[in-house]
Formats: sequence, structure tokens, C-alpha cells
Amino acid sequence: MEERMELIGSDISDLENLIKELDQPKFRAKQLFSWLYNKKVDKIKEMTNLSKELRAKLEKKTRIERLKLIKSQESSDGTVKYLFGLSDGNKIESVYMPYRDGRRSICISTQVGCGMGCNFCATGLHGLSRNLTAGEIVNQILTVEDITGEEISNVVFMGMGEPLANYDRVLKAIRLINSEQGMNIGMRRITLSTCGLIPQIESLAQEKLQLTLAISLHAANNKLRSQMMPINAKYPVEELIPACKRYTELTGRRITFEYAIVDGLNDSYAHARELAKLLRGMLAHVNLIPINEVEGIDYTRPQRRSINLFKEELDKLNIPATIRVERGGDIDAACGQLQGKEDR
Ligand code: SAH
Ligand code: SF4
Repeated sequence: MEERMELIGSDISDLENLIKELDQPKFRAKQLFSWLYNKKVDKIKEMTNLSKELRAKLEKKTRIERLKLIKSQESSDGTVKYLFGLSDGNKIESVYMPYRDGRRSICISTQVGCGMGCNFCATGLHGLSRNLTAGEIVNQILTVEDITGEEISNVVFMGMGEPLANYDRVLKAIRLINSEQGMNIGMRRITLSTCGLIPQIESLAQEKLQLTLAISLHAANNKLRSQMMPINAKYPVEELIPACKRYTELTGRRITFEYAIVDGLNDSYAHARELAKLLRGMLAHVNLIPINEVEGIDYTRPQRRSINLFKEELDKLNIPATIRVERGGDIDAACGQLQGKEDR
């Protein structure tokens, strides 16, 4: 039997092609798009404004599937971590974070595993299995909305994988998430985090999107950064920072620099001053994250006091910084702890 086409992940031009193949008038594509991403139905029979004939054809040729829920764990702070199964048996994790002010955020994955090998991150421990499709990326949102009955307001690309290593699909997913006729989540409510792939940062700048770009910096000099993040050997700090400046010039957007503090490694006054010097004059913001401990990785979480001192030093040097409020640490749902494995 011919395999049925998965509709989730199709953009308007994919749907127009499909509708054409099915010998239907073009406007049907828009209606279908709205059912998929705006009204978010997962059954073709519920698409009541489509003709019977078209619905029958769609039933035969296409399918709409949510991700398969394997396991969920809820943190004492309301954060929920979901383990989802993909159609080929791979597994990914997504993290749902409700906030008191009404925001409903989701942290989504873009790859199964990650090939970047940062030495503090659980996702990277076993390398990259494969890229996610645009459908699998947006389906994390649709599936979590179905499960929770809540509408997602903010999306962060900080789950498993390096989003810019899966550039085209991630960009397609972002456009679906942002589309006014679709999921309609504003660009300013989308954050994309990268370990610093310069050519892709340059391409993204050309798109001039109003999303927030976050750069995982973690160290302000090449020696330390290369030790923590092998990608730094290819895209060193003195090239990364100018690329970030160009990004800001082109998009007008402030960049967030993530700095995970590891006890005794990158947490001294001298490190803070070095970081301040590097970012001086930039439209930038530093997000300080106490490193999350990962089994098998020998980094220690710093004392709260040493994080505060690091921040005070940045304050003195007029570098805007905040300490990230941690969510879901008790269920291994915090940054860098996602592995996509069941047996934990
Ligand atoms: N691959 C992208 C996005 C996913 S990782 C990136 O690296 O930016 C999301 C964030 O978690 C990144 O800032 C990453 O550096 C950080 N991170 C990874 N492992 C961590 C850990 N053990 N503790 C704290 N943050 C971690
Ligand atoms: Fe990949 Fe990001 Fe983890 Fe590095 S921190 S291994 S880039 S997911």
C-alpha cells in the first residue's frame, strides 16, 4: 500500500501542491492549513467546511498523527517533561512550563541526540541519531496542547539537539508556529538557542526574524570554551562575537548569551571581567545558569553565593545579566538534562 502523507509539517505551498494533485480548487489549501494549525483538529472528518469528496480523498491519501506519549513526569513546580515516541522508534523529550502570569512555555527538541559533543550536556553524550522533521518539531507543541488542554504561548528551541544544525526544517517549523493563519505564536515569543554555528547565524540574520537568538557561550576565552564545547575549535570566540554583532545590526534584536556556571571552572571574578570585556558595547543580555549536574559528567553546581557574586561583578561593569529561574530540576527536565531515554 502506498504510504499516506503526514499532514503535520506541511506548509501552505505543500498543501497547495497536494490539493492540486487531488484535483481540487486552490482555496481548499488555506482551509486545510487552518484546520491543521489553527483549529488543530486531528481528524479529517472534523474538517466540516471541506467537501465530502475532498475529505474522502484526504482520508485515503493522508494522515494526521500526534506524537506517541511514552511517559510524563511532573515537577513540584508544575513543569512537565514528556517522552515521545516517533514513528521510527526514536524518542525525544519536550518540557512544558506553565507560569503564574499565565504564560505557557514549551521547550522543544530539534534532533534525536546531538552531534556537538559539549562536555556538560546529557543530550550530546551519545552523539546524533538524526534530524527531526518540521512535522515532528511542531507536533511537540500540538501534542502537548492536546494533553494539557492549554494553549502554548511561548516556544523555546532548547530541548534536544542543535537547532541550527537542522536549519531548513527548524526554519520551516518556526514559520508554521508563527503563521497568523496557523498557530499564531508571535516571533517575540520564540527563542532559539545555538552553540554558535556561524554560517547559519549569518543566514538566520538575513531572514530578519524578530525571534530571540540565544548563544550558548559558557566561557569567554577560546581555551576554556574549546574545552567545554568542541565546536569552538571551528567557530572561535573572536569570529563568533562579530557574527553576533552583525546579527544584531541586521535584525535590531538583542542577543542573549547563556553562561552555565560550573564550580571552580568558569566562575571567578576574572571570568566575569573577561566576559564583560567581550560583550562590551553590544546589545546583549547574559543569562546565568547554574550548571545542572548530569550523571557521568564531573561538573559541580556552584553555590548560590558564587553565582550572585558573578552577577554583581557583571552589574558593576554594566553588563545586563539575570540568573535563570530553574524549572523542573527535580525531574531532570532542566537545561542539558534531556536524553530521550525511558530508563531513568
Ligand atoms: N543545542 C543548543 C540548544 C539546546 S541546549 C545549544 O546548545 O544552545 C539548551 C541550553 O542548555 C544551552 O544553552 C546549553 O548550553 C545548556 N546546557 C546544556 N547542558 C547543560 C547543563 N548540564 N547545565 C546547564 N545548562 C546546560
Ligand atoms: Fe548539543 Fe546544545 Fe547539548 Fe551542546 S549543549 S551537546 S549543542 S544540545
